[in-house]
Amino acid sequence: MAKKQFKAESKRLLDLMINSIYTHKEIFLREIISNASDAIDKLLYISLTDERVGLTRADFRICVTADKEARTITVSDNGVGMSSEDMEKNLGVIAHSGSLQFKNENGESAAESDIDIIGQFGVGFYSAFMVSDEVTVISRAYGSDKGFRWHSTGADGYTITECEKETVGTDVIMHLKPDTDDERYSDYLENWKLRELIKKYSDYVRWPIVMEVEETRPVEKTD
Ligand code: ADP
Repeated sequence: MAKKQFKAESKRLLDLMINSIYTHKEIFLREIISNASDAIDKLLYISLTDERVGLTRADFRICVTADKEARTITVSDNGVGMSSEDMEKNLGVIAHSGSLQFKNENGESAAESDIDIIGQFGVGFYSAFMVSDEVTVISRAYGSDKGFRWHSTGADGYTITECEKETVGTDVIMHLKPDTDDERYSDYLENWKLRELIKKYSDYVRWPIVMEVEETRPVEKTD
């Protein structure tokens, strides 16, 4: 599909997120995990009255994986997923435009105030762009046999295309920005760092958060 533009308000907020000098960039993980948790809540709720869901409470989980070579962090959930319409509606528009409205009404423009507002409101999904230069969302909605891929490299817009997705749920794949003198985005690819952030910000999440870690086993010696 042709690249679509974000809605005007979303674009401004996205610009803010991308260029933000906000010091708590690390909260992006909390926001993405919290969305995954909400999506699981939604599918659990459906499963109470629809036995075709085929999952019980014990089956739900959120998986966080870092790939150093690809420079990506992936947060996967087996929640309710999104159709292409959902993606259009939910990822093309900022739900919480309240922060921008606030800013407009108060006539503030200084970078400092922008940052405070980001911190105060939290803007969910878009916070991924504080640490990423490319975000891909691969999702299959409950009840659908089609997967869709939402892809964006930032404020210039996004595309939605059909793709393969075997199971219902969502993968959010964040490609990290290059490191700078002030900011080591690569740290987020370290399992210790991810574990620390999950413990710090996502301890309250009621679904298991699992991490895929590469196992290193001693190689057996053969002659
Ligand atoms: P909020 O979560 O506060 O509504 P976000 O910007 O974080 O705002 O997310 C926007 C919307 O995108 C969510 O409300 C939800 O409908 C959808 N969404 C985001 N992540 C997921 C996910 N992992 N699974 C299903 N839907 C999602």
